[in-house]
Amino acid sequence: MEIYRDEIDSIKHGKSLHNNSSLSQLSPILDVDDTLRVGGRLRNYKDCSDLSKHPIILPKHHHISLLIVRHFHEKVAHQGRSLTDGAIRTAGFWILGSRRLVSSLLHKCVICRKLRGCFGCQQMADLPQDRLTPSPPFTFVGVDTFGP
Ligand SMILES: [Zn+2]
Repeated sequence: MEIYRDEIDSIKHGKSLHNNSSLSQLSPILDVDDTLRVGGRLRNYKDCSDLSKHPIILPKHHHISLLIVRHFHEKVAHQGRSLTDGAIRTAGFWILGSRRLVSSLLHKCVICRKLRGCFGCQQMADLPQDRLTPSPPFTFVGVDTFGP
């Protein structure tokens, strides 16, 4: 209701959505609990649950969407963007612009940054002159006199 008040009012009164609405491509419906869901074209498909046939529509810029993305990202054990996105869709949520939201969350996730970060390497010093000069064996020899 916070974000899609106009669309919900239009659906309740049987009007068509405005063309500039972000939901017009999804042909949204309201269920018995007045939850906004994707209408889609699978209404006649009987072998599928209503959760995956009519997922719940959520806006991209909302705290609930962020919490859902974070939950499913942890549930798939910090896997990549496509697995997190697939888990969200399988659970019956349709977040508008979820790809970008999941990517931004993965970019900020501390565990993912630790797992996917590149290793640090030390800057090596310049080689000494005796190692760069071509010479016969045992020309430059060092003896570690007191080493164990
Ligand atoms: Zn992560």
